[in-house]
Amino acid sequence: MDVDNKQLLEMIEYQIINRGIKDHKVIEALKSVDRKFFVPIHLSDYAYDDTPLSIGYGQTISQPYIVALMTELLELKGSERVLEIGTGSGYQTAILSRLVKEVYTVERIVELLNIAKNILTRLNFTNIKFFHANGYHGLPDYSPYDRIILTASPRRIPQTLINQLSNNGILVGPEGDFNQNLVKIKKVNNEIFKEEIIPVRFVPLISEE
Ligand code: SAH
Repeated sequence: MDVDNKQLLEMIEYQIINRGIKDHKVIEALKSVDRKFFVPIHLSDYAYDDTPLSIGYGQTISQPYIVALMTELLELKGSERVLEIGTGSGYQTAILSRLVKEVYTVERIVELLNIAKNILTRLNFTNIKFFHANGYHGLPDYSPYDRIILTASPRRIPQTLINQLSNNGILVGPEGDFNQNLVKIKKVNNEIFKEEIIPVRFVPLISEE
């Protein structure tokens, strides 16, 4: 069900649809989740702005367009089990949750994980499993995953993550330190196909504690 919020609909019209996001299911998912619940209260006025915002602990909630683009690149059909590394605010988690069977989300900062978990539980998202861990090497116990999404940038996409993709699986995430690119990796019969999408700027994926 759509959220009744003019600012949210304008955000989707101008920042998402006008920039070329076409997947109707992605657009519907964005309409059904109010971004304001995922930004800190003191930044509520900026909840629909075309920009990332600080969520504390040196981390950010991604720009709405980037969330939409990454979700579209995942080519979701509805039956997938998805691994998300970097829960952050939980906004991307919520969008994924609307579009797939199950989301496994991993966050290393326990305070952020708890804030995200509280709001997602309060909003009745039920197909999300939360993990407080360093997800640099994924979450092997529950692998393979049909899709993997990284919301923080490693210097190079770790091979251990690619190993956790199922056949015909897709991984989407940033790669690089100063100069980052959004990449899409497809695994087809154990062959890896990698595509660079656009330059991006994400917080670093922390390799070890
Ligand atoms: N999609 C999120 C992005 C949050 S920023 C949003 O829109 O809110 C990226 C998150 O990745 C941060 O919360 C950061 O703490 C987390 N992160 C960074 N390295 C990590 C790692 N190795 N394991 C788990 N989480 C990590």
